[in-house]
Amino acid sequence: MEYIKELKAALEKFAVSLQEIIVTHWHPDHVGGVDDICSSFNEGYKVSKLKRLSEADVPLKNTDYTFIKDQHVFHTEGATLRLYHNPGHSEDHTILQLVEENAIFSGDTILGGSTTTVEDLTSYMQSLKQILDLNPSVIYPGHGFVIDNPKETVGGYIEHRNKRESQIIQCLTDHRDTPMEPMDIVKIIYVGVPEALQISAANNVIQHLLKLQKDQKVDHLTPLKAAALYFTGCEVVISTVLLYRH
Ligand SMILES: [Zn+2]
Repeated sequence: MEYIKELKAALEKFAVSLQEIIVTHWHPDHVGGVDDICSSFNEGYKVSKLKRLSEADVPLKNTDYTFIKDQHVFHTEGATLRLYHNPGHSEDHTILQLVEENAIFSGDTILGGSTTTVEDLTSYMQSLKQILDLNPSVIYPGHGFVIDNPKETVGGYIEHRNKRESQIIQCLTDHRDTPMEPMDIVKIIYVGVPEALQISAANNVIQHLLKLQKDQKVDHLTPLKAAALYFTGCEVVISTVLLYRH
């Protein structure tokens, strides 16, 4: 409700009204406030987002989403926004480019001051490259501080993931023909990481393994579905056998 008050004050101060709400992706912390806005402000604006494919979007209470497509362009007085499908953090994740300034609103793909969670690392790496190729002047993340050195920051994200991938490949090579689970790899390459953070480290490793499999660098990875259960934190016996293709 604090946000609604501030939004009302800002609209009054600049004598503007809501034209459209653009939702970057389906996560609750990004859509959760939309119903409140819709019940507090008069109608006449759209709520736009890219449609989820694997599951239906959770319906809004007071209005329906207007589903838009990749590269959709929004016009308003003095500003143009272009939407890019930028999956990886989530399948429906999008970023917005303020064309006039080549500024990027990065949603959760890039965060200011912390690392994000990744649903699909292969898409995520392509999405980082997409942002780098847009060569933004500044990045406004969904959370955290403004990033005024996009090239170094996004480049750093890519480098960090590539380094992790090399470590995993090295680990698999060193333990060739030994059945390994994601947690075995965590124990070897995430030295000194506290136990509480090891599950999320294992999730990272799983993402890397899935990517390596897509890249045909990992020979045998079974069973994928069971590996994914790490995400829920469930106690599941995982019999992941990895053989590095050499
Ligand atoms: Zn998110």
